Amino acid sequence: MTLPTPSADTPRIVVLGSLNMDLVLRVPHAPAAGETLQGRSIHHIPGGKGGNQAVGCARQGAHVRLVGCVGDDGDGRALREALTRDGIDTTAVAIDATEPTGTALVMVDDAGQNRIVVVAGANARVVVDEDALARALSDADFLIAQFETPIAQVERALHAARRGGCKVLLNPSPAQPVDIAGWPLIDTLVVNEVEAAMLSGLAADSPGEAAAAGRALRRLGVARVVVTLGSRGAVAIDANGARHHMAPKVTAVDTTAAGDTFLGALAVALARDDADFDAAVRLGIRAGALCVTRPGAQPSIPWRDDVLRGPLPPDWIVL
Ligand code: ADP
Repeated sequence: MTLPTPSADTPRIVVLGSLNMDLVLRVPHAPAAGETLQGRSIHHIPGGKGGNQAVGCARQGAHVRLVGCVGDDGDGRALREALTRDGIDTTAVAIDATEPTGTALVMVDDAGQNRIVVVAGANARVVVDEDALARALSDADFLIAQFETPIAQVERALHAARRGGCKVLLNPSPAQPVDIAGWPLIDTLVVNEVEAAMLSGLAADSPGEAAAAGRALRRLGVARVVVTLGSRGAVAIDANGARHHMAPKVTAVDTTAAGDTFLGALAVALARDDADFDAAVRLGIRAGALCVTRPGAQPSIPWRDDVLRGPLPPDWIVL
């Protein structure tokens, strides 16, 4: 499939990240040790933070190139095909001959509780070619990375972004107590409560606490921080202070990929108009609110038109 050439004003984003096939099992309850349980259904759903964020950006109208790694197997082929259907350039998705494609086993019980096991597989084999990435980033608006691929490769990507003159949006998820040397290379840091607390050493449960944690993270050298707070929206922290943007009230059926959807919409909005941080956060909130009303990871990520027609965040408060 040949992808369309992006026009000059199309936002350009490069995502370094994980690709997983989510095996979603519906079960009456979580099986106990030694118990054999009849599941209700099984679905194979494309996921992984890297893939989800790439799709989140593509559905907001960006030209997206993904750097990642899958196994030489059916899941790997299915993930690449799904990304291509979303118009994402997968030429930098490597195929590893030794490891299987990353897999997330998601068990959802009748009470709606999730239990998840992730096996990194080929995601652990991602290797960043710093020269090639620096070239690819020289005409990109943002590099996006998370922590589901090896941190050493994320650090190489941060240096490639500096060489390519490209801004970095980092989502240090899943939370890990890391001390990366490259904090000042990060333009925008997007964290949830758990990640904010782990990286700042401060509680980040309330909007006020999230603002304080965000201010502490800015002191590491990051220009802007967003702390996402689930149904309570998000706190934006930059040189002008902190603002709490609330989320619209929706009926949440599945919060999988809400953070990735938020981040994709935020990144594309910043690529379009970097000066309006708060408008970008509000767009992320609108996209995240739509995502939680639909089941699954990538199938639940909304397109730009839906987001612009969707629920408006009610208000925002200066903290
Ligand atoms: P993560 O999944 O990374 O922990 P969050 O749960 O904070 O991220 O969700 C990310 C964003 O998605 C939130 O900032 C919010 O805008 C939106 N969101 C998540 N859950 C809900 C919800 N129940 N209702 C409305 N919006 C939500």
